[in-house]
Amino acid sequence: MKHKTIALAVAAAALLGASGVALAQADSVLAPKSEKPADRWTIIHAGTLMADAGKPVMRNASVIVKNDKVEAVRDGFVGPDAIGNGVAPAGVAVVELRDKFVMAGLIDAHVHVGFGSWIAALQNAREKVFGGATTVRDAGSTPEVIFPLRDAINRGLVVGPRILASGSPLTTTGGHGDFRNGNFQASLAPPAFSSGVCDGVGECEKVTRRQIQLGADQIKIIDTAGVVDDSYTGLDQQFTDAELHAIVDAAHLMKRKVMAHAIGAEGVKAAVRAGVDSIEHGNYLDDEGAKLMKAHGTYLVPTLEAPTDVLRRVRNPRPGDRPISDNTRRKVLGMPEAQPEGIGRQVKVALRNGVTIAVGTDFGGTPGDEMVLLVRNGGMTPAAALRAVTLTNAELLGISDKVGTLAPGKSADVVAFDGNPLDEIEASTRVVYVMSQGHQFKAPGYQLP
Ligand SMILES: [Zn+2]
Repeated sequence: MKHKTIALAVAAAALLGASGVALAQADSVLAPKSEKPADRWTIIHAGTLMADAGKPVMRNASVIVKNDKVEAVRDGFVGPDAIGNGVAPAGVAVVELRDKFVMAGLIDAHVHVGFGSWIAALQNAREKVFGGATTVRDAGSTPEVIFPLRDAINRGLVVGPRILASGSPLTTTGGHGDFRNGNFQASLAPPAFSSGVCDGVGECEKVTRRQIQLGADQIKIIDTAGVVDDSYTGLDQQFTDAELHAIVDAAHLMKRKVMAHAIGAEGVKAAVRAGVDSIEHGNYLDDEGAKLMKAHGTYLVPTLEAPTDVLRRVRNPRPGDRPISDNTRRKVLGMPEAQPEGIGRQVKVALRNGVTIAVGTDFGGTPGDEMVLLVRNGGMTPAAALRAVTLTNAELLGISDKVGTLAPGKSADVVAFDGNPLDEIEASTRVVYVMSQGHQFKAPGYQLP
C-alpha cells in the first residue's frame, strides 16, 4: 500500500512538474488521512482509594484517566462534566468500584514470563496481569521470547503487564542457570538458553553487554547455586569475586541495574560487595549479610512464593506442574529454609537490620500471594507490604516517575480488591479490577476472554 502511494505521488509529481509545491500537494491528496484517534476517557469511582501507599487512604474518590495516563485524582464521585474541555459525556466510561479498595497497579519484582515456548509466555503474561501485576521485572527468560513480548505488550498488541526484561540470566558453566546441565543426552537445550553462560572477566563483560545489546532493561546474574537443579554444587557462590565485579561494573557503566540470585549466606555477601542492586531469594541471609546490605543500600526480594511453590510441587504434585527431579525433591525436603516454618526467615533478619524489602514472586503466585507470605511468615505489616509492592518496587526498577502511585501524569495502572488489604492482607489476592497502561483487562463480572 505504501509503495503504491509513493508510486502515485511520483506519477502525480511527474504530471504536475517536479516542483516541491506540486509534490507536496500530490502527497496531501494521495496519502491516507492520518486522523488523530479520539481520546479515551475513563472515570473510576473508588470507595476507598490508596493513591499513594505512603499517604492516608481517601474515602469516596475518583480517578480520571485519559488514554494511558492518570489525568487527575479528585475527592468525591465526579461525573463526566468534571473533565470539561468540550469532552462529550457520552464518550466517557465510568467504572463503579464504590465498594472496593482501589490502588496503583501492583509491581512484581521477580517473575519469569518468557521462559520456554511462546504460548506459555503469552499465557503467563495474561495470568500476571489478571493477578493484579501491571508491571513485572523479568528475572531471566528466553531472549527471543521476552524482548518481542515486552515490546508487543507496550504497543497494545498483546495482553500483559509492562515488562522490564533481563534476557538470559548470566551464569557460570555448570552453574545453576546453565540449562545444559544434565541435559546433554536427553535434549540439548536451545542455544538461547545458555547464551548467558560466561566464565572469566572478559567473557562475563561480553555477555553482560550482549544482553544489553539484545534489549535488556537490567541484568540478572546467578551468583550462587540453587535449589531446583541437579548440579550438586552446594548453595553458595559460583562466580568468582572478580567475575561478579566485572559484570556489575559493565552493567552499571551502561546504566543497567543488576539483580542477583543468591541463596547461601556467603554468596549474598559477595554479591553485595560487588555492588549488585538487589539480592533475590537470600534464603540463608545472616545478620552480617543484612548489615552489609543496609550499608550498600541493597534491596532484598525474598520471593517467598518460590519455596512455597516448590514445596507444594514436591508434596502435592498436580497435573501440568513443571517437572521436579528426585534429586531436587530430596534437596528441598532436607532444606529447613524451604519448609513452611523456615519460609520468611530471611525477611525477619532483613527487617531487624533495616534492609529494604521488595516484592517478587518467581515462578508461581501473584503479588497478593507474596504479600500474604511477607506479612504472615515474614512479620511485615500489611501497610509496609503495600508500600513495598508499589513505592519500593518502582524505586528498585528505576521507574518511580511512571508507576507506583496514582497521580497526574503517571501510567494508568489501577487495581481494585474485594476487601481492604490494610486490615486483612489476604484481600490483595481478591483482584476484581485491573487497568494496565490504560487498557481495562478485568472488571467486576468481566475478564477479557
Ligand atoms: Zn527466579
